[in-house]
Amino acid sequence: MFNTLLNILFPESCPLCSNPVSVHKTAPLCESCWTTIVPYEGPACRRCGRPFTSDAASICFGCLQDEPLFASARSFGLYSGALRKAINLLKYHNIKRLAVPLAEIIRADGLPQVDAVLPVPLHIRRLRQREFNQSALIAKYLAKGTETAFVPDCLIKIRDTKPQVGLSSVERRKNMKNAFGIRKKEKIQGKRLLLVDDVSTTGATVRECAGVLKRAGAGDVHVFTLAHGMQD
Ligand SMILES: [Zn+2]
Ligand SMILES: [Zn+2]
Repeated sequence: MFNTLLNILFPESCPLCSNPVSVHKTAPLCESCWTTIVPYEGPACRRCGRPFTSDAASICFGCLQDEPLFASARSFGLYSGALRKAINLLKYHNIKRLAVPLAEIIRADGLPQVDAVLPVPLHIRRLRQREFNQSALIAKYLAKGTETAFVPDCLIKIRDTKPQVGLSSVERRKNMKNAFGIRKKEKIQGKRLLLVDDVSTTGATVRECAGVLKRAGAGDVHVFTLAHGMQD
């Protein structure tokens, strides 16, 4: 435990391959592990971006059953390997500077044309515990790099929900229901938005957020998540 902590504070070797780290920008991940973070290019649902194991279908069952309110949704990569490690280092070990190279690789991959970028918010209680919102950090750098407005104060989490881990798709939707609210409506009305989240599993959170934004008068809502997680 103590050694793990020391390694996080004073990284000497990459947590994935144990090789020495020479590039500060992506540290503690080494350059060669960082280059394994690549976009997912396999088959995925055309509506929600959920990866498929085969390319037999083009729209997933969830989207057929209940059409999402977002205009498009995409995950950059799969929640595994170096991308998973990078997200966890950012999220749980406060290595905030990793948001910069992460935003860079996302931008290089191409984003939809929008008027404003906003993150999936954390509840104030969670924000106090964690001190920052990792999705807001990524969203901020994405907005900066594309010279788009960053709007972190419009969509808010009004209910502190229990963790989604271990819940079924239906339970996740229920858990997120009415968990978000809007203030300063005028900032998003008629605007094309890019909603940013770090990890999406069933899409319950971004679906709920897109619904709230659309009902408040937003234009097209595009969703971008860093990684697509597998349901546990
Ligand atoms: Zn490495
Ligand atoms: Zn889908």
